[in-house]
Amino acid sequence: MELGLKGRGALVAAASKGIGRACALGLAAEGARVAICARTRADLETAAEEIRAKTGAEVLAFPADVTRAEDVKALVEAAVRAFGRLDVLVTNAGGPPPGPFDQMTDEAFRAAFELNLLSTVRLIREALPHMRARRWGRIINIQSTSVKQPIDGLLLSNAIRPGVVGLAKTLAGELGRDGITINTVGPGRILTGRSRGVMEHRARQAGLPFEEFLKRDVAAVPLGRIGEPEEVAHVVVFLASERASYVTGVTLQVDGGLVRSLW
Ligand code: NAD
Repeated sequence: MELGLKGRGALVAAASKGIGRACALGLAAEGARVAICARTRADLETAAEEIRAKTGAEVLAFPADVTRAEDVKALVEAAVRAFGRLDVLVTNAGGPPPGPFDQMTDEAFRAAFELNLLSTVRLIREALPHMRARRWGRIINIQSTSVKQPIDGLLLSNAIRPGVVGLAKTLAGELGRDGITINTVGPGRILTGRSRGVMEHRARQAGLPFEEFLKRDVAAVPLGRIGEPEEVAHVVVFLASERASYVTGVTLQVDGGLVRSLW
């Protein structure tokens, strides 16, 4: 299937590692020019070099913290300066810390709001004029299955991330006539550096070898295994493509069937 991504300008936030990096690689492999950001320049440069080497694509590595309004503005400006256009925006960030309600201060809620919701708002706000100018755009928000089914121990994710779905569903209505689609992707259990660290910690707490812990952890996943970042990226690349032209306002979990909700 020809995805129609050749020559398009794409920006993937929080993309030096994990799911974001896999999305950037996937878009670059389809011929898009890709801007990526993260806070640490060295990790970002390594990711950019890897993507260039594997795809030959033009990759802009721009250090930016998505929780800082001025960084987001500078990031989008740099991408547009480099590519002359911005057609695809993948919003992404780190996850908020785990913990029960009694440990969560106002500050913890504010930080999670800024990390997962306000960063999404700001990235979209800066990108929109460039998409409207060409009457074509694809916005894909990376969130979590917590937007469909709360995850035990991840109160902040459960409380804040669903706001992004409300935002996306509202914007689907406001942006459709400008030729811009907006969708949300909810990864389930995906093996990245971050999730491996969390699982190794939980395995130690449970007194289990990592492989044994992993086997039990995926028992509830109908496909019976943990997912790879590339499996999320394939869905994101499709939603970013010309072929997803009549899909907007949806939330699609990539979770091996873990969420049992009908919706
Ligand atoms: P990861 O730690 O492997 O990668 C996160 C990336 O985000 C890194 O490149 C990091 O540098 C960057 N980043 C973090 N905070 C940033 C900030 N403030 N500004 C700019 N860049 C920043 O994580 P991942 O597993 O790929 O997860 C990506 C997102 O998906 C997170 O929000 C995570 O909570 C969510 N998620 C992950 C899983 C999973 O199983 N891996 C499941 C559900 C949801």
